[in-house]
Amino acid sequence: MAQVTFDTIGKTYPNGFEALKPTSFGIEPGEFAVLVGPSGCGKSTLLRMVAGLEEITSGELSIAGRVVNDVDPADRDIAMVFQNYALYPHMTVRRNIGYGLKNRGTSKQEIAAKVDEAASLLNLRDYLDRKPSQLSGGQRQRVAMGRAIVRDPALFLFDEPLSNLDAKLRNQMRIEIKALQRRLGVTSIYVTHDQVEAMTMADRIIVMNEGRIEQIGTPSEVYHSPATEFVASFMGAPPMNLMPAELDGGQVRLFGATIGETTHTGDVRAGVRPEDFLPDPEGTLMMNVEIIEELGAHRLLHGTLGDTSVTVQVNNENGAGVGPIKLSIKPGAACLFDRKSGQRL
Ligand code: ATP
Repeated sequence: MAQVTFDTIGKTYPNGFEALKPTSFGIEPGEFAVLVGPSGCGKSTLLRMVAGLEEITSGELSIAGRVVNDVDPADRDIAMVFQNYALYPHMTVRRNIGYGLKNRGTSKQEIAAKVDEAASLLNLRDYLDRKPSQLSGGQRQRVAMGRAIVRDPALFLFDEPLSNLDAKLRNQMRIEIKALQRRLGVTSIYVTHDQVEAMTMADRIIVMNEGRIEQIGTPSEVYHSPATEFVASFMGAPPMNLMPAELDGGQVRLFGATIGETTHTGDVRAGVRPEDFLPDPEGTLMMNVEIIEELGAHRLLHGTLGDTSVTVQVNNENGAGVGPIKLSIKPGAACLFDRKSGQRL
C-alpha cells in the first residue's frame, strides 16, 4: 500500500496558463481519494501528473517514498482506468486483461492464473472468450478494471471511469469499484465531476476549483462543514442555500431570526442545507413556497425567504402546499461565511 505525497506541486502549461496552483497534501496508504470539481478546475491535470502523462512544473511528487517527477509512466507502478475503457476491440476479454502482463514478459501460466483470479473477482468468467463489442458497458468497464488489477500496482488512478454508463449502471458500478478497492486495499485516486459519486465512494474528497484545492475532508466533513461557499454550493444536490445575514451586537440574524453568534465584523452570508430547515408553526422564518417537487421519499419546496430563492426539503408526509410556510433551522446547522472571501467563519 503506497502513500502519495504532493509537495508544492503545481502546473503551468507551456502557454503560460496556471492549471494548478502550488499545493501540498498527502494520500494515505490504502486510501480512496476522490478529486472532484467543475469542468476545467484542473482535476485531470493533477491525475495526469501522477500518471506521468503530464510534466510537473513545480514541486515534488512521491509515490511510496520515491520521488517520481522524472520517472517514466511505465515505471511508476500505477494502473489507470479510463472513461473510454481503452480496450483492444480485436482481442478477447482474456487477452485484453492479460495484455499488460504479456508486455512485461510474465510467463504464460502466471498470466493465465492472474487473469482467472481477476475474472472471478469481477464476475467475468463467462465472458473471457468474447470480444469487447459483445459486452455491455458495465462489463467493458469491468474488463478495464481487470486489466488494472492483474498488474498488482501500488496505485490505481481512475479518470471518470463511469461517465459513459447510464445512471442505474453507474450506481451499481460505483458500489462494485468501492467494494473491490476495499478488498484489494490499493491506494486509489479517482477523478469525477459528479459530487454524488465523490460522496458515496471517497474516504476523503479533494474539492477543486479554478486550479486550487478548496477543501480536503471526509464526505461528512465536506458536506456538513464546508470550508468555503464554493464547497457548500458544489457538494449536495440540491446545494446549500446561501443567504445574506446580518450581524447585530455579535448575534447573527437571518431575516430577523437569530441563528447564532460571532465575533466577526463585516458582511456575512449564512448557509443552510435544504434538509436543515424545519416546517415549524412556531418558526420565525416565513417562506413563500412557489413550486413543489415530489421525489418519492421526500419533497422539495422551492420559493423565497425575503427576496432570496431557497429550497427546503421536507418528508413526504408533510402536507405543505404552495403559499406561506413557517420554518425554523435545526440548532447548530447554519454555517456562516465571510461574504468577501467566501471562507467559512
Ligand atoms: P474536465 O472535467 O472538463 O475534464 P478538468 O477539471 O479535468 O476538466 P483539466 O483538463 O485539468 O480540467 O484542465 C484544467 C485547465 O487547464 C483548463 O482550463 C484547461 O483549459 C487547461 N488546459 C488543459 N490542458 C492544457 C494545455 N495543454 N495547454 C493549456 N491549457 C490547458
